[in-house]
This record gives sequence, structure tokens and C-alpha cells, in this order.
Amino acid sequence: MSLFDKFQPIADIQADLQALGIMPFGAVTEKLLSSTEAIVNGHKVILAGTNNYLGLTFEPECLEAAKNAIDELGTGTTGSRMANGTFAGHVALEKELAEFFDRKRSIVFSTGYAATMGMGSTLAGPGDVIVLDADSHASIYDGVRLGGADVIRFRHNDPADLDKRLRRLGDRIDNTLIIVEGIYSMMGDQAPLAEIAEVKRKYGGLLLVDEAHSLGMLGDHGRGVAEAAGVEDDVDFVVGTFSKSLGSIGGYCVSNHDQLDAIRFAIRAYIFTASPSPSVIASTRAALRLMQERPYLRDQLWANAQHLYDGLKALGLQVSPEVSPVVAVTIKNRNQAIDWWNRLLQRGAYVNLVMPPASPTEDSLLRCSVSAAHSAEQIDRIIEAFANVQNTPVAN
Ligand code: PMP
Repeated sequence: MSLFDKFQPIADIQADLQALGIMPFGAVTEKLLSSTEAIVNGHKVILAGTNNYLGLTFEPECLEAAKNAIDELGTGTTGSRMANGTFAGHVALEKELAEFFDRKRSIVFSTGYAATMGMGSTLAGPGDVIVLDADSHASIYDGVRLGGADVIRFRHNDPADLDKRLRRLGDRIDNTLIIVEGIYSMMGDQAPLAEIAEVKRKYGGLLLVDEAHSLGMLGDHGRGVAEAAGVEDDVDFVVGTFSKSLGSIGGYCVSNHDQLDAIRFAIRAYIFTASPSPSVIASTRAALRLMQERPYLRDQLWANAQHLYDGLKALGLQVSPEVSPVVAVTIKNRNQAIDWWNRLLQRGAYVNLVMPPASPTEDSLLRCSVSAAHSAEQIDRIIEAFANVQNTPVAN
């Protein structure tokens, strides 16, 4: 028995795939041609599996802001927010995020993972309770396990099950944190936040919503599912990331609770890691501005979502339950999913291959996502690639 034995199943899968010449989790983007096209593993592809929802990664204003920041401030901060790593840009971005979300307080983190994991692990500790949606992202699970609170899962997107579990808590509700996401990353389904907020109002507790995949997508201002559902006042903490609709990297938490200023200095994922580079902060600020100036990007994004959804559904594929910028195609058999992923790549469509345990069920997924920057013709080509794979006998 050695420390390495537990990795053997992964090594076996790797070896099988390598023998077939397929490396779905080692796909290398060799060249970016635009925010929607690239050369991946030697194939020219349309990027149909990114989180670049608003397509802002090559916006001239974002590029220029990042380049200027490098020239003026260098390549990195070389330190934690709590030590030498808080530059004027970090503080300005926190102010701009608070204004955008119409909240009093905000924290900028180095990644979305650090934001979600940091808040989850810090807000609730031993003796406290966390009630979370069963399909929560790994960063949520990692955080709550680290924090040491009692963790209770409720059925995915099921407010009645949440109600049942909160009712059972009795007095413990006073130190309970409820965690859900806005749009779920794998299937693209939205949390029924109006109903969840109603349950929270009935019993109490604090509510944290991870809007990683919904920022810039929903609500009059693009603030996400909470805004679209009209329940922002019921949400105590919104966390999210800069790595999707804002096209950079980093995370945030916004809140109206004054205690966030003290909580900041208790979050280990904030204290013990270097702060985001000045160029990252500069492009994020530019993207946040553009997102507000260009609400029509949201309309383009949803038009593209509908287009891809309708096209894949018309092929008879098993697509996710609701129209969303994330369209997941379920392929029950893992080897078939790998084969489809590979042949889609060869036919010019890059999608995400998701296998259990990363997928919410025992099935595998071909997770597709659209961007506001995709043209209608590109969406047609993605659908054509699926049709082509579907109509060709299995390769192996
Ligand atoms: N929360 C959710 C729901 C996510 O899907 C992700 C990333 N996939 C994160 C947090 C982490 O964000 P990041 O990748 O920017 O660290």
C-alpha cells in the first residue's frame, strides 16, 4: 500500500485514453483566433465550451487597460491583500462592485474558488449549520467541509425540501447559513430563488448565493438570478467570479452586512494568498464597465442560447431541462461521451466533456456554452458538428 495507490484508477483511465489518442482533459489551446475561435489540439474549432458568456476577452478597452496596468504597476503584486497586495485598483474595484450590486460592502478575492470557498468556510464553523443545495459546486463543498459546520443537503432546486430541513432545525436556525447557486454550471438550470427566499423569510438564517454563472446574464442590471427574481433584499451575501462573464480571473463577495469588514480579516483564502495582478484588476474593471454599458450583450447571449438549444433539441439529443447559455447534452455511456467529444473536436466544435463525479448524475455530459460573441453562423456550425457525429457510426 502506498500513498500513490489511490491514484491508480485515474492513471488507468489516462492510459486507456492515451492508447486511443484522445486527451479530453489535457486539451491544449494552441492559439486563440478570437474570443470564439481557436486552435485546440491541432484542430481549428469554434469554442463552444467556455464561460466567456459576454465574449469580452478580446475587447480593446479591456486589453488596453490590462497593458497600461502592466506598464505602470508591473506583472504582479507579490503579496496578500492584507500585507503589501492591496493596490488602489483593488480598492476601486471593490467600490465599483458594491455600487453595481447596490450593496454597502464588497471584497475582491484572487479567484472565484477562493471567494466561495473562503466565505463558506469562514461564515459557519463548528456548532453552526449549513444547509446547501445538493448539486453545489466543489468550491462550496470544499469551503463548508473546511469550516467544520454541520452540513445538511437539500434536494437540488427543491424549496419544499429546504423548508422541511429548516423546520427540523428549531433554534439552530439562528446560526444557519443557506447556500445555493444562481445558474448551475453543469446543466444551466436556474435556482427557484423567489421560492427559496420565501422559505428563508419563513424560518430565518442567512442566505448566500453563488452567482458565478449568472453575472451579466439576468436581471435589469445584469446582477444575476437574485435581481431577476426580485429577491435581492433576502440575499445576505452574493459571491461570484471574474473568470466568466468578465473574462479575467478573481472573485468577489458583496453584502449589506457591515460585519463583512471584519469577516474579511478572518478569511484564510483572502489572507494567505497573493492578490490579483494589477492587469487582471484593470481588465476586470473595464469589463464591469462594458457589461453595464452594453446591456444588449445579454440579449445576444440569450438569442444564441435559444438558437443552440433549439438546434440540439431538434436533433433529438437529450438536452438540459431549460434554455440557458449552458446547454448540456446527456450521453449516458462514458466511452460514448469521450468518443463524441473527440469527434466534435475533429469537426470543429470544442465542448466540455464532463464525467461523474463532476456531473450531477451518473451520466456523462457534453457541456456546451454560448457567448454573446458567437455569430448565428457559428452556432449553426456547432449544431452541424453534432448532427455529423450523430449520423456517423461510432469510431471505436
Ligand atoms: N462557483 C461556481 C458555481 C463555479 O462554477 C466556479 C467555477 N467553475 C467557481 C465558483 C470558481 O470560480 P473560478 O473558476 O473563477 O475560481
